[in-house]
Amino acid sequence: GSRIGILGDGQLGRMLGCSAAMLGFDVVVMGPNEDSPAGRIAAHNICAEYTDKDALAELSVRCDVITLEFENVPVPAVQMLTDMDAKVHPGKKSLEVCQDRHLEKQFSQGCGVETARYWLIDSADTLNAALDELDGRGILKTRRDGYDGHGQVRLSTGDDAGAAYEKIGEAPAILETMIPFAGEMSVVLARSTTGEIVAFDPAENHHKNGILHRSIVPARFPADVQRRAVEAASRLIEALGHIGVLAVEFFVLEDGGLLLNEMAPRVHNSGHWTPEACLTGQFEQHIRAIAGWPLGPVTRLMDVEMTNLLGDDIDGHFGLRGPGAMTTLYGKRDARPGRKMGHVVKRLNP
Ligand code: ATP
Ligand code: MG
Ligand code: MG
Repeated sequence: GSRIGILGDGQLGRMLGCSAAMLGFDVVVMGPNEDSPAGRIAAHNICAEYTDKDALAELSVRCDVITLEFENVPVPAVQMLTDMDAKVHPGKKSLEVCQDRHLEKQFSQGCGVETARYWLIDSADTLNAALDELDGRGILKTRRDGYDGHGQVRLSTGDDAGAAYEKIGEAPAILETMIPFAGEMSVVLARSTTGEIVAFDPAENHHKNGILHRSIVPARFPADVQRRAVEAASRLIEALGHIGVLAVEFFVLEDGGLLLNEMAPRVHNSGHWTPEACLTGQFEQHIRAIAGWPLGPVTRLMDVEMTNLLGDDIDGHFGLRGPGAMTTLYGKRDARPGRKMGHVVKRLNP
């Protein structure tokens, strides 16, 4: 086919759309925002809620294959598309698992990939009971809809459970133990329609205020730790039957042990260095996978550091264009504080 549909209209859709265009596809974007980063570069933009049946019908007739750039696309929307005989990659299972932190951790453990210990929370009382086992310390996260640290509260001894539960909107949640990690690492990998799996080199990730700040590649963890992370991520992508790019975030423990933090069934911020540094970048890889093409080679040509530009950071982005620095901007109109506006990939080796 030659027409690709993207559910979601943010920067990931924009970069996916650019890569799709480079491979000769026409791009149709469907998302709720008018004048969006992805909508503005698409050949056709359908501005509608994800569950709008008429809009989904239009998307399905306009496209040969449909994908997503946003993991919280409602599962019923994907069901409606498949009922209309549309081809959607990745499928329902990837979304169902990755949308819910409880299901995600259960699934991971079922694949032999450990996670932080956690408790299911549905009231201030269940939160209090769980906190009793943790000396009052832990991290409370909504089961669904969290991103960039939203929907999370860190609790220390003596903090009020009722207030914390209220702060996350009294939604179904989990309480996780605080992991004293040595570092964080992610594996971005792809699986094709024929079941071929190819992983980019793992990235070492540094967060600020719960938001990814910087990714460094190669990651400064032992080769054996990185190999185990790629193996774990490969088991997960296979078990999901996932088609397309998947990102798997890990905590790396002092002893080299790995815990799954979370997965994203899509291209990922910690893979934003790949287009500049690898023979095939994550956006092209995702398009190749969902289009039924063979995956591209991910050979890495340089050592890199990717830094996010948040809010006002873009005002000085030309200043970051030192030797070997490559800037991408997302075309967002409004530079609200903490909003992801662009990123810079800097070559580290000469
Ligand atoms: P995103 O989807 O944008 O990555 P998110 O809102 O889903 O973010 P998480 O990945 O759950 O958030 O957490 C964000 C960051 O907070 C983690 O990368 C890590 O730095 C820290 N963090 C989360 N959970 C824990 C934990 N159990 N122990 C220690 N640190 C944690
Ligand atoms: Mg997340
Ligand atoms: Mg995360």
